[in-house]
Amino acid sequence: MPKQIKLIVANWKMNGNLLHNEQLLNNLKKSFINYQPACKIVVCVPTPYLAQVQSLCTNTKIHWGAQDISIHPKGAFTGEISVSMLQDFNVSYVIVGHSERRRYHHESTIEVIQKAQTALKSQITPIICIGETLKEYQANHTQAVLQKQITTIAKQLGREVNRSIIAYEPIWAIGTGKTATPKYVQNIHTMLRTQLKNINSEIDDVCILYGGSINASNAKQLLSQKDIDGGLIGSASLDSQQFLEIIKATDPLI
Ligand code: PEP
Repeated sequence: MPKQIKLIVANWKMNGNLLHNEQLLNNLKKSFINYQPACKIVVCVPTPYLAQVQSLCTNTKIHWGAQDISIHPKGAFTGEISVSMLQDFNVSYVIVGHSERRRYHHESTIEVIQKAQTALKSQITPIICIGETLKEYQANHTQAVLQKQITTIAKQLGREVNRSIIAYEPIWAIGTGKTATPKYVQNIHTMLRTQLKNINSEIDDVCILYGGSINASNAKQLLSQKDIDGGLIGSASLDSQQFLEIIKATDPLI
């Protein structure tokens, strides 16, 4: 079932600094004094800024998350961040398997699922990214690639998929300015929902986001599709005005 309330997730990636983050979040908070967002909002920020975002966003309409998690609880894993470290900052969401991590850090779907399981065990919602490359898209392999990814996720996580978020991010659309058409994404999301349910009939309540060059001008058309439960937003989330426009695009009254 598609979700009633849309979810808008910012992925700041490796961007921001103390001053920029403060201005961006304060601008959003100011806008929410006179405007009540119709969607749920999450900002996934670089780890060093979790404390800042926690302090600026506690008891506001903005929730926060991380961009990765280690599968290990602690120990000699230089540079990694454990689930208990994320819990220290009241993190409630974590992106796992973003295509940039799969590409630059060679993360496999199985490793991504282990990360999702690690998060789920600690009541942190994993945002599990899937998507096809440009080459796969051009070769008409999108459906096969996605079915393979989603089947592995459904088989390994079972009904826990209902407590996770799936983000469909065609890799050719991320950071390229090329967006998949609303109809294309709607069809993919329907296919994903059906496939999940066919594999396990208990998977019937999954939230599926679209990500890939969403901006203020294309957000309304994409986010009004029935099976698009929200968006994962990269570059447009770094500008408070653009991000606010995307938030407003989920509002049926605007
Ligand atoms: C992303 O990196 O998850 C993303 C969707 O980026 P952009 O919006 O910049 O394409």
